[in-house]
Amino acid sequence: MLTGVQVLLLGGDARQLEVIRKLSELDAAVTVSGFDGLHTPLDGAVQAEFSEQLFDGIDALLLPAVGTDDHGVIHAVFSDREMRLLDEHIARMPKHSKVYAGMAKPYLRSLCEQNQIELVELFDRDDVAIYNSIPTAEGALMMAIQHTDITIHGSKSMVLGFGRTGFTMARTLQGLGAEVLVGVRRSEHFARAAEMGLKPFYISNLLAFTGNIDLIFNTIPTMIVTAQIIAKLPSRAVIIDLASKPGGTDFRFAEKRGIKAMLAPGLPGIVAPKTAGRIIADCLSQLIMDDSIKRGNGQ
Ligand code: NAP
Repeated sequence: MLTGVQVLLLGGDARQLEVIRKLSELDAAVTVSGFDGLHTPLDGAVQAEFSEQLFDGIDALLLPAVGTDDHGVIHAVFSDREMRLLDEHIARMPKHSKVYAGMAKPYLRSLCEQNQIELVELFDRDDVAIYNSIPTAEGALMMAIQHTDITIHGSKSMVLGFGRTGFTMARTLQGLGAEVLVGVRRSEHFARAAEMGLKPFYISNLLAFTGNIDLIFNTIPTMIVTAQIIAKLPSRAVIIDLASKPGGTDFRFAEKRGIKAMLAPGLPGIVAPKTAGRIIADCLSQLIMDDSIKRGNGQ
């Protein structure tokens, strides 16, 4: 349980509702700001105006998926009021407390560093990334279905990258009966993909495998689907780029060639906010509980 643990949650979207629910269930003292436009009550949480005093004595500050923008503004879909996280806010937090966000921009990182407050980026964690790969793959499939006139079954699909997202993407496509080529750079990934019945190739040979592809799902966060690759693709090909902005595709050239290519960021929060919220809530509550036990507050 999180009895006695003080949590401040600022802004966010539907995912945060799951986080609030879970923390309240565990008996944490949850104060929230940025939900004044929400029409349903937030059981177990106290709604408050954003102010410096909210930061006094807290054990954890929970921020949205992208903690703040480059100027400290906290995105809050349920509020029109601007919340800007400043040095004077973080400076009021006790030294044992932590800041949690999906990911952080340099602004938030330096704010935490300057004040010696630990920052935890949840999307960096393997467990969260692996769980998130499930709604990501489902969302990517949804886009593929919407933008093609063929079935996934029987399609020739290519997944670039065999990390946490690429692995799930490849297996999901395989489960639907696609022929799945996987671009890897490590020999152990090549071996694993071969063992799974996928068709691995080394990314350095990408050009040679590009000729007759229906769908490309990119998970490599660097320019990989270049103009040279796109030039070799059949015109029916669809590129779904899952890598973080700006993606790994030459979108300008794809458009020029008339090939459908789309960047698809933030799929878990779009296609499955409840599941995505539960993934964050489960991980967060465990981390906060571990911290609380370390401080000797375990109940
Ligand atoms: P990951 O586990 O680190 O996997 C990345 C993969 O890309 C690995 O296989 C890695 O190879 C490969 N790679 C990286 N740089 C490469 C390069 N220069 N050349 C060849 N291969 C390279 O990351 P992840 O969790 O799967 O996430 C992948 C991307 O998707 C990230 O940008 C992430 O932010 C994004 N993402 C997007 C969504 C969405 O909704 N669109 C959801 C989740 C994640 P090695 O294993 O050899 O390093």
